[in-house]
Amino acid sequence: MGESVAGLSDDAPLRIRRPSPFDFADKVTPAAPHWPPMPPPQPVTVIHLHPAAPPKPAWGQPCNGCGVCCAWQPCPLGVLVSRRRHGACDALRWHGDGPSPHYRCAMVAAPQQVWPWLPRGLRPAVQALARRWIAAGAGCDCDAEASATD
Ligand code: SF4
Ligand code: SF4
Repeated sequence: MGESVAGLSDDAPLRIRRPSPFDFADKVTPAAPHWPPMPPPQPVTVIHLHPAAPPKPAWGQPCNGCGVCCAWQPCPLGVLVSRRRHGACDALRWHGDGPSPHYRCAMVAAPQQVWPWLPRGLRPAVQALARRWIAAGAGCDCDAEASATD
């Protein structure tokens, strides 16, 4: 996965656990023998992010560009861009320069990076649409629980 998305690194895997049971997962934690019986294991997905990426904030807090949501699964716009429903979005870009390294959506920042065929005159419209579509600036809307793993 790290090879297909700019900026993603295999050096810093994250375990993503989603509270909702209505989601597919790449990997399920195996049940360990235990008494009394433990509740069923939660589905766990492992994603890879840049080691310098900021930690994911809580749901509803300001977005800090941690990249968890877009590296986990694409939003509706990302499904269109990436032509798949699972895995890292093709529009996710790492911005490592500057005092606050972060991930950013290329459809908002520079859609021509994702769609090179896009006429220059249409870029502002696509950027505005993308901003509205992904509700940029509305706070973190990702309910995944993310924790670093070895
Ligand atoms: S919406 Fe949340 S999970 Fe997605 S990049 Fe922003 S802070 Fe990270
Ligand atoms: S916000 Fe942008 S980078 Fe993230 S999933 Fe949607 S289209 Fe992809």
